[in-house]
Amino acid sequence: MNQYLEVDKWKIVETGFNPEHQRSSESIFSLGNGHMGQRANFEECYSGDSLQGSYIGGIYYPDKTKVGWWKNGYPEYFAKVLNSVNWIGIDIEINGEPLDIFECDVSAFKRVLNMKKGYLQRLFIAELPTGDKIKVEVMRFISMARKEIGAIEYNIEALNFNGEITIKPYINGDVRNEDANYDEHFWSEVEQTSFEEGGLVTTRTKKLDFHVCAGMTNKLQKNGQDLNINTETEVIPMEVSEEYSISVTEGDEVTLHKIAAVASSLNHKKEQLKSHVGALIKDTAALGFPKLLYEHTQRWSEIWDGSDVLIEGDDKAQQGIRFNIFQLYQTYTGEDKRLNIGPKGFTGEKYGGCTYWDTEAYCLPFYLNTAPNEVARNLLLYRYQQLSEAIENAEKLGFTDGAALYPMVTMNGEECHNEWEITFEEIHRNGAMAYAIYNYIQHTGDEAYLSDAGLEVLIAISRFWSQRFNYSEKRDKFVMLGVTGPNEYENNVNNNWYTTYIGCWTMQYTLESIAKVQSQYPKRFKEIKRKTNYSEEETTRWKEIMDNVYLPEDEERGIFLQQDNYLDKEQRTVQDLDDDERPLNQYWSWDRILRSCFIKQGDVVQGLYFFEDHFDEETLQRNFDFYEPRTVHESSLSPCIHAIMASKLGYRDKAYEFYLRTARLDLDDYNEEVHQGLHITSMAGTWMAIVEGFAGKRAKEGELYFSPTLPDKWTAYSFKILYKGRRMKVRVADEEIEITCEDGEAVKCYVYDEQYQITPDNPLQLTRKKAVA
Ligand code: BGC
Repeated sequence: MNQYLEVDKWKIVETGFNPEHQRSSESIFSLGNGHMGQRANFEECYSGDSLQGSYIGGIYYPDKTKVGWWKNGYPEYFAKVLNSVNWIGIDIEINGEPLDIFECDVSAFKRVLNMKKGYLQRLFIAELPTGDKIKVEVMRFISMARKEIGAIEYNIEALNFNGEITIKPYINGDVRNEDANYDEHFWSEVEQTSFEEGGLVTTRTKKLDFHVCAGMTNKLQKNGQDLNINTETEVIPMEVSEEYSISVTEGDEVTLHKIAAVASSLNHKKEQLKSHVGALIKDTAALGFPKLLYEHTQRWSEIWDGSDVLIEGDDKAQQGIRFNIFQLYQTYTGEDKRLNIGPKGFTGEKYGGCTYWDTEAYCLPFYLNTAPNEVARNLLLYRYQQLSEAIENAEKLGFTDGAALYPMVTMNGEECHNEWEITFEEIHRNGAMAYAIYNYIQHTGDEAYLSDAGLEVLIAISRFWSQRFNYSEKRDKFVMLGVTGPNEYENNVNNNWYTTYIGCWTMQYTLESIAKVQSQYPKRFKEIKRKTNYSEEETTRWKEIMDNVYLPEDEERGIFLQQDNYLDKEQRTVQDLDDDERPLNQYWSWDRILRSCFIKQGDVVQGLYFFEDHFDEETLQRNFDFYEPRTVHESSLSPCIHAIMASKLGYRDKAYEFYLRTARLDLDDYNEEVHQGLHITSMAGTWMAIVEGFAGKRAKEGELYFSPTLPDKWTAYSFKILYKGRRMKVRVADEEIEITCEDGEAVKCYVYDEQYQITPDNPLQLTRKKAVA
């Protein structure tokens, strides 16, 4: 834990300059708009420790795989999220002395991330080694309204001198990744030019030849008046800069407005990039910084209108959830189905490739409830458009006949993870893809999705499962050998309960979906049959497996067994561990972790969360009571699922404890790793912990359910969801629950299992059941 940030409902505030926190703060104060993102690096030169990070969605580099022992089936490359062109750079000199606050006497330092309005501010007073003192105020945003635009206001006041301030804004494409397997430089030069309004730099990635063009325009003011002074423009390979020298007397203020545009060949023809960026910066410069800022904050206000969660009586919890929602929308806004949500979003290089099962299992519910249907649909279509790669991926591993294995980590559909125990064995991810389709349809009622795209994916995944099970003569049952469950602290286990269960469930759901599409969309069904080469005979084996599958259980304890022989392990609980042994992955050898009973993240519990309706309450409770004390939550994805299950089982204190842990994971740096970037995907789990956990929201079989509880520390909370196209607001207070429906027809919903009809004119007001809480 490392708590150095102030608690505020709408802001993240760091007071005082501490270079030791710099990397962590660079992650926490990151900005993004779904198209691009930027760590909170300083604009001016900084010689202290820092991770430079400017990222563009969909731009990556296939870095050659580095492994000790090459295994057939490994991918050739690992897709790296690329540190891209530096568009924020502004070098400052005061009377010829460069400003580098690592070398200055710094006071009044403050950094503020305004989440409501979506901008970052920084303020400090610096005394340079020469004795000259300046006060600096910087504001920066990446426009939510214009996806290729970022803007900076950089203000310097001369506090104790007369002389010259030199300001040199620049664009620099000559950047590196910290994480490069062979220390390679991933970018090469294309072109750099300057023109009257500014300058631009185009660079290209090696191997995949993505082109990125970044341009800037700069405007200067002195004491609020426009300055028209000559600039010296410098154009060198991969960099363009403009230098302005301004004479000042004590008390003068100089302001630079730098507006930058960043566009890539993902969205524009290479030969048109330059003219596109040139026109873009001209237009946006004409609009000016204040107007750009205004439309940006307007867009944020619309986003908050649909997604905010209000917590009354607990500012820490309030700040936590808003920070999570803010970072999620900075990472993914859902217009482009080629983009996805990396575990670190635009905040760091770790986890390289973009998409994990995190998207389907954790992020989808958040977007499903807070954004229009298209956003969640685009997340599903991302996988649909990568189906042929998933089939090829399975073929490489020896599967046949259109069986698909979606990658563990991917950018473009190809697998880029290369540890055998995960790449080949952590196959439960395929189940999450199927579950996401089910979840989407349950919530939106958009059954057409099955016929449009979903069924093809389901058939391919079911084929994989059917081939992955094998018949064991000894048991006279179908078994699943050699897998890694969600708990990555065990590999190559047999009969992992979760993987087996979700494998069978997928086949069952596919059968139901086939029947639905066949009867509701017969013409399309014929097409799907032809396209996928599907025949009814293949489902015979699916049914055989489902009817005769081996799912490990321990009758004595009445629990599902995480995998064969789990109980042979020495049974200890997390309470038996000393604080200085944790996190285990930092203090124990890998061998010791593998042999221990400790669980990295929910495994059986993850299955209980997905399929809670399949089991009675006692079964859920017995399993939770057994596995939760053995779980170390060393994946950020773990506490949220436990928060939801704890709420469901009435463990109110535990639910709250898990909530805080997930909501403030990065703000309080629980796992001591925030310097690497934020845990973006688990942030969606924080939202789930409130809406599905405390409020007990479920959408199933065409019906909507709530069973609200209220954490003791809160006086009330409220949130909005979009359900079947209707926006609903739920407020849970100590004595009462209020559910309103903002527009459209009546919504039928169940609260504590009683059915109600809610219309815009007829909100529901109920006494909160404390017995349930
Ligand atoms: C977790 C995986 C997750 C990955 C990316 C790992 O630590 O164990 O379940 O997909 O992180 O978030």
